[in-house]
Amino acid sequence: DAKQNGRNCYKFFTQEIAETIKQRQKIENGLRSSLENHQFTLAFMPIFNCDNDDIVAIEALLRCKAPELEGIGPDQFIPVAESTGLIKEIDLWVLEHALQRLVVLQQQHNFTGKMCINISGVELHNENFPPLVKRLLETHKVNPCSVELEVTETALVAGDKTCLETLNALNELGVSLALDDFGTGYTAFSQLIHYPADCLKIDRSFVSDLFSEKEPRSKMVLIIQNLAELYGLRVIAEGVETEEQLNYLKRHGCDWAQGYFLSRPLLWDDLIKRLAE
Ligand code: C2E
Ligand code: MG
Ligand code: MG
Ligand code: MG
Repeated sequence: DAKQNGRNCYKFFTQEIAETIKQRQKIENGLRSSLENHQFTLAFMPIFNCDNDDIVAIEALLRCKAPELEGIGPDQFIPVAESTGLIKEIDLWVLEHALQRLVVLQQQHNFTGKMCINISGVELHNENFPPLVKRLLETHKVNPCSVELEVTETALVAGDKTCLETLNALNELGVSLALDDFGTGYTAFSQLIHYPADCLKIDRSFVSDLFSEKEPRSKMVLIIQNLAELYGLRVIAEGVETEEQLNYLKRHGCDWAQGYFLSRPLLWDDLIKRLAE
């Protein structure tokens, strides 16, 4: 009967919540022990110039070797890190290691491109973040123009003063700023002019919709491309998985591209091999 149904429903619901809490707890524990036991690593995803297929940049992507986090990627563990405050320590670890690697690439492998580093939206509300980046750039003697910081578009809060001040302070350091997963957030196009961004990264979903029939959204790639041209921003297409997509993007003036068709994220040794090719 209805009452029984309701009870079952309630039971199911509480079980589901308990499961979610357990899973988050497991991820949190995994993150804590990873920080303590140095179990984070970086994967490196080459980004290619559409004009000549050169590797012009490398995106650092966080990976975790802790057994508790097996099969769990940053899409799942970064939100937990954000809600538990562990993200600050993680972002710091990522910045330090990505900059160290960049120096090795420049000094030993003739790399002249950019290192692209993802930072959490949480940092946009942290006034200590730009001075931290400044100190790290100085410590590692890295030229700011070889660093691009990526923040997801969804992290931008329209009209938020701290957010804008942080972006401006980072911009003043000389690093470039990319708006990641662009097109999935809520930035009114008229707002774009207020952000000191250098680059828009077209979200992977729009690239995969390009030839998919099911989605008239494929126009999003062109809209973002045109927007970027109007505002004088560079465009990186993410998630390029086929030659057809790449050719389309090239034809329509996309600057840089990354995706499985071009290269998977690579371990350090494989990155070095790839750069030598
Ligand atoms: P993102 O910054 O947009 O990074 C691109 C993600 O898409 C990566 O997943 C990459 O492996 C994946 N990808 C790239 N090309 C393709 C493709 O052609 N096909 C498919 N199916 N996937 C592709 P990943 O490494 O799992 O990272 C997920 C997200 O987690 C990142 O999205 C970023 O938002 C966040 N993240 C990763 N590393 C870090 C980090 O060091 N710090 C912070 N704060 N966030 C990070
Ligand atoms: Mg990114
Ligand atoms: Mg993205
Ligand atoms: Mg993403």
